[in-house]
This record gives sequence, structure tokens and C-alpha cells, in this order.
Amino acid sequence: MKVQSIRGTHDILPGSVELWQEIERTARDLFGLYGYAEIRTPVLEETELFARSIGIETDIVRKEMYTIEDSKGKSITLRPEGTAPVVRSYIENGVSSEVPVAKLYYIGPMFRHERPQKGRYRQFHQIGAEVLGSDNPAIEAEVIEMLFRLLQALGLQDFTLLINSVGCPVCRPAYVDRLREELRTRAGELCEECRRRTETNPLRVLDCKVPTCQPAIDQLPAIADWLCPECREHFSLFQKYLKSQEIPATTAPRLVRGLDYYVRTTFEIVSGRLGPTQNALVGGGRYDGLSELIGGPPAKGFGFAMGMERLVLLLSGRADLGAPYKPPAPEIFLVHLDQPAFEHNLGLASELRKAGIFAYVDFEGKSIKSQMRQANRLNARFTCVVGESELQTGQMTLKRMADGSQTTLKRIEIAEYLRKEK
Ligand code: AMP
Repeated sequence: MKVQSIRGTHDILPGSVELWQEIERTARDLFGLYGYAEIRTPVLEETELFARSIGIETDIVRKEMYTIEDSKGKSITLRPEGTAPVVRSYIENGVSSEVPVAKLYYIGPMFRHERPQKGRYRQFHQIGAEVLGSDNPAIEAEVIEMLFRLLQALGLQDFTLLINSVGCPVCRPAYVDRLREELRTRAGELCEECRRRTETNPLRVLDCKVPTCQPAIDQLPAIADWLCPECREHFSLFQKYLKSQEIPATTAPRLVRGLDYYVRTTFEIVSGRLGPTQNALVGGGRYDGLSELIGGPPAKGFGFAMGMERLVLLLSGRADLGAPYKPPAPEIFLVHLDQPAFEHNLGLASELRKAGIFAYVDFEGKSIKSQMRQANRLNARFTCVVGESELQTGQMTLKRMADGSQTTLKRIEIAEYLRKEK
């Protein structure tokens, strides 16, 4: 039986990986300008971390987590998202006592047992950033500005920022009660899942994608009309800061998070090109109650997670991409005529690499002809044929492949010559 990759996972091969590297490099450079430091947390965490933070009632915890019992009977889970691990680490390592506002970013794989389809995988990757220790709406606008700059730097144009406020423990309960009442009167127009959520978590009905539920959902009261004066002020300041950075935003009354620790600002970046149901590229928001929920001190938090596969999908139309993969071209291809020359070339290649030069030695090619063919195929800039006489005289001839011109040098002069030629 042929062993294959697991359903919902995918390889990132040479030819594609360069774009991933570019995304990561651009993100790291840009996030650095905004004061973010990278954090790397383990891929495995105690199941309890996600059960408490994401919530027992969510699809992720109910059916999508890769959970195993270790040999001592402890339940551990492959992380389905990055925020809870970052907050856990922030608490565990006492970061709050070192810096008043911690700015952290992560890049890495996440795992969810979802039904695989275009843009949806079981192992996927996220770039995320979290600000801990501030509830200033200006910092929220700064995070979004940073995201916009990242997407623009990568050449993405057609995306939309959706924003909303989900209120706070002061104003939300009255809205949720009102929503539940309204949903009960419309039960006949709703799917079974929505009817269940009417009782367990009415906010999540607003997320429902079932087409037949949409007319009823469109008639539901909007949370914006129920915000307390503090939440209203916070949201209008957030919008003001976005505007002053010239960031266009669309208010989306149905954009909510169904968990109590999410407060105030919530946002998504969507693109029509991702398809009707899987259209979110970025999800984010404020989660001031999360730290306490997992046993930490009170800590204000705001952050986002961006799906890298979806970003790659959107960028794959970029004009400079799509060329077939070519292995990197060597600066110099060292051709050997016999075994002593081969051994000499191994040493010379090693020396050249120490000097920062990409030198190539062929391990398979038997004849000089086949080595030259390989040098051509790799698009080497120079070749150098080494045989008995080169070893005796210590003089080597470098051939520039583009025009066939030749230069004879002492072995120790080669590195310097090639460096100048670069
Ligand atoms: P979430 O943590 O669910 O808010 O997701 C944040 C972002 O991660 C989404 O907007 C997607 O871009 C990406 N994402 C979430 N789940 C998947 C998945 N199964 N496959 C690929 N990308 C995903």
C-alpha cells in the first residue's frame, strides 16, 4: 500500500514555498516596525485551555479538536487556534509584570477536524498578533492599519474590512434577552441548529449561513442599538481612528462572537474571491475576559488571526507568480575529471561556501559531458573543470557560461573573483 498524506493536510513544495517565505518575511519586518515580538508556543496544550477559552458550545470544541489522552490519562489537544496559547504563555511567564503592554505575534500550524474543501484544511497555518494590556481603541486601529499594510505590501487589493461592536457584560445581556424573545417568535422560520441556539447562545444565530434562515435573521434587532454609552463611545473612537488612517470600514451588524469574554470591537477581513461561505481571510477582536477565564490576572486583549492558505490562494493571481519552479542557480559548478579531482572539488566547494558563494559539485555525473549538461540545466554562472594538470599547477580556468569567456586563476583567488562578479 502506498503511504499518502493525511486528508486535509498538504505539502508546500519548492516553487510555492517561496511565496510563503515572502509572506513570513514581510510580516516579520512590518510587525517589528510596530513593536511586535515573535512568540512560539507548543503545538500541544492541555485540552482544558481550549475548552475554557473557545467554549464548550462552539463547533471547534464540540467536534473539531484533535484530542488524545497521554499515557498518564491527561487530555491533550493539537492547538486549533493561537490566541489562548499566547495568553496562557503570557500569564505563565509573568510577561505583564515586565511590560505594561505586550505586543506579540505568531506564525504556525493549527489543527481542526473540519470537512476539507477549497480554503479549508485540517492542518492550516495562521499569522496572528495579540496586544495585551490595553483597551485603547487607538491600538485596535493600529493593529488594523498594520494588517492593511501587510496585505498591500503583498499586493492584495480587493478585500473589505467589516467591523462591529459586541458590547460588554453591562449592555449585552439585555440585548441577548431581546434577541432570544424575537427568535422564539420566529422559531418556525429557523433551522434546527438556530432553534437550539436560541436557548443556548442566541448571538450565534446571527452567524448562521443556512439560506432559509436569512430572511428572519435580517429582521433581528441590531446590537448597535443596545450598546451602553461607554461601548458606544469606544466604538465611535475606534471608527474615528480608522478614518484618520484612511482605512475604509463597513459596519456589519451581524458580525458577532458568541462567547462572553469577547467584548466591544470585533472585525473580519473578507474577500469575495474566497467564495460565499469561506470568505474570511482574517478574524479578530477584543477579548478582555479571556485571561481570567484561564486563571490569570485581568488583562485587556485584542488581536487577529489570518489564514495563510487563504492568503496564498488570493495572492496566486499575482502577476509575478506562477512561473514554473527553477532550482537556484549556482555561482560556480565544479566539474571533476577523476576521483582525486572530485575530492579536491569537495574541499574547494566547502571553502567557497564559507566565503558566501553558492558552489555546486556533482555527485552523480560520471562523464565531463554529463556534468556540463547538468551545469547548463542548473543555469550555473561559471564552470571550472578540474583534472590532473589543474591539481599539479594549482591554476584553474573559470568559464563564464553566458559568453564562453575564460579566466585562469590560482585556487585562492577564485572566491575573491566570484565575489566581485556577483
Ligand atoms: P478563526 O480562528 O476561526 O477566527 O479563523 C481565522 C482565520 O483562519 C480565518 O479567517 C481563515 O482565514 C483561517 N482558517 C480558519 N480555519 C481554517 C481552516 N480549516 N483551513 C484554512 N484556514 C482556516
